[in-house]
Amino acid sequence: MKKRIKKIIYRLIGLLPSSAVLMLHNITDHPKLNKSIVLSHEKFLLLVNSFNNWSPINAAVKKPSSGVLAMTFDDGFEDVYTVAYPYLKSQNVPFTVFVTVEKLNTEGYLTTEQLKELADDNLCTIGAHCYNHLPLAKLSYEEQKKELITSKCAIEKIIDKPVTLMAFPYGSYNASTLKILRETKSYTASFIVGRGFLNFISGFSRYEKPRIPIDNESFDKNFKLLLNKYNGDR
Ligand SMILES: [Zn+2]
Repeated sequence: MKKRIKKIIYRLIGLLPSSAVLMLHNITDHPKLNKSIVLSHEKFLLLVNSFNNWSPINAAVKKPSSGVLAMTFDDGFEDVYTVAYPYLKSQNVPFTVFVTVEKLNTEGYLTTEQLKELADDNLCTIGAHCYNHLPLAKLSYEEQKKELITSKCAIEKIIDKPVTLMAFPYGSYNASTLKILRETKSYTASFIVGRGFLNFISGFSRYEKPRIPIDNESFDKNFKLLLNKYNGDR
């Protein structure tokens, strides 16, 4: 019963004028085990070409009722640079990359040079995705603080720009995470996994902004949801 009421509430919230922040990871046709983080090239092109309301993430955060779409990539995979970026650039579509520091310069991930190039492009916003890609809710207060602050500082040092946004690895966080974020004011907003569209109710909490996952596994359902919401006509 409780679950049903929750579902109805979410459905009602979904009717409000809303923006959407999409969560992507890999863009590749390479067969991988984890279907929940991979999006095929074909689906990626379909997604980009189906909407004309792509906007920088700050527009969605500052004015969620404006009904814009913001694309984000978690982890900092190399194919964001080699596959997604050239197409997004050609279509003038803004995007955000949430970077995990320890993954930089390792196989399959961005190099610091690629990260710098992305950061220098006005189309791209760079955010943090912690230092070690650990589930924050499983860490102590001090460990969490370290993850949140050191990642911000390390990325800022590389790109020479302020990093004001972050996304929780695995969408994992707890009351301590929120306390640290509030007290340190290290980020202006942080993003979770799921909970649908971003509007003045769902986006009320500065540090729990919802995101809609887009991957091969969830594509049909979530793409349809976006089409229904924004009547994509591009
Ligand atoms: Zn991640």
